[in-house]
Amino acid sequence: MTEAKILVVEDEIPIRKLIVFNLQRSNYEVMEAGDGKEAIKLVQDQSPSLVLLDLMLPDMDGFEICTKLRESHPDLPIVIVSARGQDMEKIMGLELGADDYIVKPFNPLELVARIRSVLRRTNQGAPKPPGNVIRTGPFILETKTQRFYKSGQLVKLTAREYQLVKLFFEHFNEPITRDELLDEIWGVNYFGDPKTVDVHIRRLREKIEDDPSHPIHLKTIWGFGYCFQGE
Ligand code: CA
Repeated sequence: MTEAKILVVEDEIPIRKLIVFNLQRSNYEVMEAGDGKEAIKLVQDQSPSLVLLDLMLPDMDGFEICTKLRESHPDLPIVIVSARGQDMEKIMGLELGADDYIVKPFNPLELVARIRSVLRRTNQGAPKPPGNVIRTGPFILETKTQRFYKSGQLVKLTAREYQLVKLFFEHFNEPITRDELLDEIWGVNYFGDPKTVDVHIRRLREKIEDDPSHPIHLKTIWGFGYCFQGE
């Protein structure tokens, strides 16, 4: 299933190809632009769901493009890619109205996860059909009744655990970072310890895994986050 249409604006071809490869592998439809003029034209003609914008381009400053796109398409999600140290203060403040930024060099997995997170936040992604029942392996999640079963047995979940299960079940096999989980479950204004996530995952594993210290469903992606293996 094709998810969303992403415009990748990057003049360095090897980097662009790497990004395009990783996005396509995650089922995104991808368009490419090597400079600002081309990028603006593609946004007008093709209405992408999100723009991934490198700041250093041959013809136009990325900041200028971002401002222009913001004027003409106020709802278009923009994720900025920049080299370390490059106008970081300006980017960090997200004064341009960018929805997120990624520093080069980046981990392609993280790039895809961040894009997915922005699309989720801005509701531009194509969500899975809102079926009331999601099944995988021994598990059944009923979103209508908020009930969760393992091998036919009702598993009692706390509100947070239910939200975690629901998020993972809507995104099987997608690595999700701790920060994304914090944002989605605890809210972007939560300033607690990211370890909170690990504590909740541990408790959830005790309820769903046969051997919680060797999880086969809710996996840890070291140095990154978590991933639920679904069918
Ligand atoms: Ca560049």
